[in-house]
Amino acid sequence: MENKITMDIDPEEFFVHTYKRSGAPIVRGAGMYLYDTDGKEYLDFGAGISVNALGHAHPVLQEALKSQAELIIHTSNLYYSKAQIDFAIKLVKHSFATKVFFCNSGTEANEGAIKFARKRGARISAQKFHVLSFSESFHGRTYGALSATAQPKFQTGFGPLPDGFHYSPFNDIECARLTLDKYDFAAIIVEPLQAEGGVNIADTEFLKFLREYATERSIALIYDEIQCGTGRCGSLWCYEQTGIVPDIMTLAKPIGGGMPLGVVLCTDETASCLSPGDHGTTFGGNPVACALGSHIIDIVSDSVFLKKVQTNGNYLKTKLEGLMKKYPSIEGIRGLGLLLGVRFKDDPGALVERCKDNGLLVVKANMNTIRFIPPLIVGLEHIDKAVEIFDNVLASMQK
Ligand SMILES: *Cc1c(COP(=O)(O)O)cnc(C)c1O
Repeated sequence: MENKITMDIDPEEFFVHTYKRSGAPIVRGAGMYLYDTDGKEYLDFGAGISVNALGHAHPVLQEALKSQAELIIHTSNLYYSKAQIDFAIKLVKHSFATKVFFCNSGTEANEGAIKFARKRGARISAQKFHVLSFSESFHGRTYGALSATAQPKFQTGFGPLPDGFHYSPFNDIECARLTLDKYDFAAIIVEPLQAEGGVNIADTEFLKFLREYATERSIALIYDEIQCGTGRCGSLWCYEQTGIVPDIMTLAKPIGGGMPLGVVLCTDETASCLSPGDHGTTFGGNPVACALGSHIIDIVSDSVFLKKVQTNGNYLKTKLEGLMKKYPSIEGIRGLGLLLGVRFKDDPGALVERCKDNGLLVVKANMNTIRFIPPLIVGLEHIDKAVEIFDNVLASMQK
């Protein structure tokens, strides 16, 4: 059969409609830019939803991909692979953790973290299985992670969900205490900076309270740094900015350099509760993804690189704040490093579309926020250009 998928066919015809998308398909990327089948150029301030930390077609990642593929692409977890060991050692060296577990995605990493925490709780009591998460959180789409995602719009129609998941308002210490006092909790899961939820930073006092409560009651404190970690906030891990350390941390999105990779980081206290057969994955920690991950850690953990994320992030934030004076529809600019959100009074969905038409990719967060999450290699000239397009689009929509 000849290849009939040309662009006079609506691709929507072939897909389950779980995403709203339109326009010509993307075929190629280079640095900060993407190109579609019509040759149109897009300045990428979405980075594949915070994934492409080093932009597109980065030579170091391309080389790592090629050389690892020539050696071995898959081994399963019945054997160690060299690429996996090298990467695990780097993660341990650069974090609070002493142990790692590899999987393939963010939701899987959270699934693993919840299972590890419940296993840990089960050592203490059969009732110690409850999980606390917070309003506007996003932890993924599989049943455990979905149950921890305290946003009804993601859960509706998919019940029944597993038992033992509880929610409390983000950044509200007293409400959290009330709920925590009610049940025997195995885990508290929180994003130090909520990204999908509208770019909301966890208060230091809030995290401090969770840390102290968790320690007192032998609850595993899980940080979901899938989006805010790996350099995006201007430090290798977001938790470094408060110094409040979790028991378990989950990673995904940028950590595999664009290859599917999820990570659960933990300490011996948690790891000692798991035995062979307790949890697993066929693909997790795939050698190609790990080879790329090693380079991501090498590059992103560099203090000069991180300093640049901070200064460029501040530069972008200041420029976006400048737009607030011009456009009263903007309520505020939020975030850290290169995870910034422009909060609007109304749904900015149409604005995101118009930006795309004008060659700028940005990503919506929740119902009222536009995320600016460029590759971490972004330069000042790209920021100037992106803000200029955004400014022009805002001006045109005001008319
Ligand atoms: C994207 C995201 C997830 C889910 O990751 P997937 O790889 O899409 O399963 C979980 N938590 C946070 C904070 C995320 O941003």
